[in-house]
Amino acid sequence: MSADRETNLNHLKLLVRDVPDFPKKGIIFKDITPLLKDGPALRFACEELAEIFKPVKIDQIVGIESRGFIFSPIVAYLLGAGFIPVRKKGKLPAAKEAVSYNLEYGEDSLEIHQDAINRGTKVVIVDDLLATGGTAQAVIHLVERLGGTVVGLAFLVELVFLKGRERLKDYKVHSLIQYG
Ligand code: AMP
Repeated sequence: MSADRETNLNHLKLLVRDVPDFPKKGIIFKDITPLLKDGPALRFACEELAEIFKPVKIDQIVGIESRGFIFSPIVAYLLGAGFIPVRKKGKLPAAKEAVSYNLEYGEDSLEIHQDAINRGTKVVIVDDLLATGGTAQAVIHLVERLGGTVVGLAFLVELVFLKGRERLKDYKVHSLIQYG
């Protein structure tokens, strides 16, 4: 890793704030808003997320609501790929596929439009943070159910101690900053 890149990655880490006991007791929430308001840091983070997938032809970036929507369209733009939203239950208007999953702090359901992905389409899934990997795994199911190929997954933050990467072991997982 170049010295500049390492310095920039360390800087990103300093811009992620720990908020204890949010949204419930015992959870240390990784708040990325200090990073988002820093222009050069935001640009560097988005460019880094896109960089790893540049050698491959990616058709679409799948973004996960809500904080995944901050980075995924920018990564799509940088790669010249399309953007597909995966949204919380009841938000998408047309015919959809749904999947339920467990979160680090609760249970939820995600949906994708049935016509979002064509068979054989190469996609990258982008989210802000990898914790247990439950969300990412649910989105992989949705993409594969529609016939898409998951080329990889990219996260700004990885909580290594929650072992989400093990759950996603059949896939290329990329994260910019790690904790634990
Ligand atoms: P998981 O399914 O456990 O990998 O959780 C990942 C999703 O939950 C991501 O979309 C994150 O935005 C959110 N999330 C889980 N744990 C945290 C945390 N400690 N801080 C911030 N966001 C989190």
